[in-house]
Amino acid sequence: MLSAIISLIALPYAPNALEPVISRETIEYHYGKHLQTYVDNLNKLVAGTEFEAMPLEEIVTKSQGAIFNNAGQILNHNLYFTQFKPYEDPKFEEIVPPTGKETINPKSEILKAIIRDFGSFEAFQAEFEQKGTTLFGSGWVWLSADKSGKLVITQEPNAGNPVTKGLKPLLTMDVWEHAYYIDYHNRRAAHLHSLWQIIDWSEINRRYTE
Ligand code: MN
Repeated sequence: MLSAIISLIALPYAPNALEPVISRETIEYHYGKHLQTYVDNLNKLVAGTEFEAMPLEEIVTKSQGAIFNNAGQILNHNLYFTQFKPYEDPKFEEIVPPTGKETINPKSEILKAIIRDFGSFEAFQAEFEQKGTTLFGSGWVWLSADKSGKLVITQEPNAGNPVTKGLKPLLTMDVWEHAYYIDYHNRRAAHLHSLWQIIDWSEINRRYTE
């Protein structure tokens, strides 16, 4: 009998709370099946190895092959699923669709840093979506901070996470097809653009400032 050292994270919202941006069905597959499988696989792979008692982030920075792939995917999905907040309908009097900027505290450190390093929130969003859309195959697009607090956007293939480059990961979009195919089919760019509406910027700011 294996003792589970890594467990499935709890979602900080109900499975249907992100609709219509992310459907309950996608959550049931993406969180309930895909992430659960990475957790099950990793627990089997690390049993009896030097990685067995290691924190997840340390496993990601020290492992390769199957252990890295499963550990990386767990770390990536843990950061992904805990960066969202329940979807709120835009107010009926709003003519322009929400961009996500409405939900950021204008005095937050993360917004100040985004404007400092990208010029504007809109320029940051455009670069982030462009890098997510043009990442070939499966992977992740990340907003991270370097040791000095400077923000960077990077593309990581497959299970990649910026911690392996010494960066602090803050925000991510999953461009594996399993993240969007049920709701958006092949329209990856539309999916990425819609995600801004459910980003919990207080959580991103907490990650940046901690
Ligand atoms: Mn995924």
